[in-house]
Amino acid sequence: MSDKRVRVRFAPSPTGGLHLGGVRTALFNYLFAKKHNGDFVLRIEDTDQNRYVEGAEQYIIDCLNWCGITPDESPVTPGQYAPYRQSERKTLYREYAERLVMQGHAYYAFDTAEELDKNRKEIPNFQYGQVYRDGLRNSLSLPQHLVDQLLADHTPHVIRIKIPADQTVSFTDMIRGRVSFETNTIDDKVLLKADGMPTYHLAVVVDDYLMKISHAFRGEEWLPSAPIHLLLWDYLGWKADMPQWAHLPLILKPDGHGKLSKRDGARLGFPVFALDWEGTEGFSGMGFLPEAFVNFLATLGWNDGSGHEIFTLDELVTKFSIDRISKAGARFDFEKAKWFNAEWIKKVKAERLKVEVKKVLTDKGIIVEDDTYLLTIIELIKDRCTLLPDFYQQSAYFFQTPAGYDLNAVKPKWTNEKTDFFKAIIEQLKSTEKLIAADFEASFKALAEEKGLKTGDVMLPFRIMLVGGKFGPHVFDIAALLGKDETIDRVEKALIEFTA
Ligand code: GLU
Repeated sequence: MSDKRVRVRFAPSPTGGLHLGGVRTALFNYLFAKKHNGDFVLRIEDTDQNRYVEGAEQYIIDCLNWCGITPDESPVTPGQYAPYRQSERKTLYREYAERLVMQGHAYYAFDTAEELDKNRKEIPNFQYGQVYRDGLRNSLSLPQHLVDQLLADHTPHVIRIKIPADQTVSFTDMIRGRVSFETNTIDDKVLLKADGMPTYHLAVVVDDYLMKISHAFRGEEWLPSAPIHLLLWDYLGWKADMPQWAHLPLILKPDGHGKLSKRDGARLGFPVFALDWEGTEGFSGMGFLPEAFVNFLATLGWNDGSGHEIFTLDELVTKFSIDRISKAGARFDFEKAKWFNAEWIKKVKAERLKVEVKKVLTDKGIIVEDDTYLLTIIELIKDRCTLLPDFYQQSAYFFQTPAGYDLNAVKPKWTNEKTDFFKAIIEQLKSTEKLIAADFEASFKALAEEKGLKTGDVMLPFRIMLVGGKFGPHVFDIAALLGKDETIDRVEKALIEFTA
């Protein structure tokens, strides 16, 4: 790699919620930048005012922050290449478009929207380009004095790139190797719109140049735009400074057929956004940890070759390598995403989960007063949780007496001997000072034996007394956490129902 400072950019358009493919693009840019001690830039590409969505920019920033991949330079933390919103850079693009016109690589086009519509209707596969441009109203087809007059009259016009005929344009993609395009298939894209706003094609090239971007990871869907950008880099005389591109593989639908779309989430019941977006639940709202989400995204099209899958963000930075990004599309697998989350919940310390679990419980009306108690509970149950809301199902009984019991599991096999056994348990507990899990387990089992009962036959009812159902960690650990008095209360209360 050259000794040029590594500067990458994530350049989303604020047109809606950030799809997980967009977050993956941001992540790969981030990983590459950090691996090479470079800068990760967020540039908001908001030149298409028709598609601008209020709140989308803030949402993008919030998503990156949630994922822990905060940009070094962005509209909210500008660096020396400010501004970082293209709409605020509007005036600087015209100069470059005009320069291209002067050089003969671009031209003014005066056609109205109606005229173009008419052409599209009347000519099959109409393209504004080599085949038809001479018959349209532009500075290549019209005499110079007329062009001068139209410009002097401020006639609305756009500036279009003049795509050359019969050329092959190619570049070396960091993932795909040599990629070539025939210019004859490309139309003369608009570079500067009638309102003076640049289009994506002009703005992306000018800004990547001015912001000294050295590398750019973007989705494979941008590959068809690459030849236009290559020509612009060349025509503007900047070819030596062109960033190295990496076009990331598509993220495919779960069945592997076609690109994952925003609509697939609603259709198949999984999130496609990182954070909630306009009433649609994101990975965060569904109870994913950002560590797990980021780890999962990193594996969509990349692996480190070792078979290991669980990586922290720092480990991803160290291990990331372009050689291990696949060219083929990566199939989205929601079950795998959940697996990552469960693994991450197991991996992190209880303290790391405290805030999230407290929120889950508060939302369900459980107020946690004792953090130490909460941490012990988290530690005890976290291996049983896949998503954060599972902490409610798995822990509510530590804060509330069970709302009901799985009576089907106990009543058919209930006997008077069992009633006697639990009455004796209550007496035994009353005479102990403190309920210690191991001691209680030993005396519980001894008493069962003494009464001629199988331990299993009384352990399950005991669990249901404390928890309400057939789930949860080791029952004596539960009893110890609930404490002597609460355990006694629950056994007494449940006995009434079990014997009714
Ligand atoms: N503004 C483009 C987008 O919305 C950026 C494409 C690129 O990275 O060049 O994704």
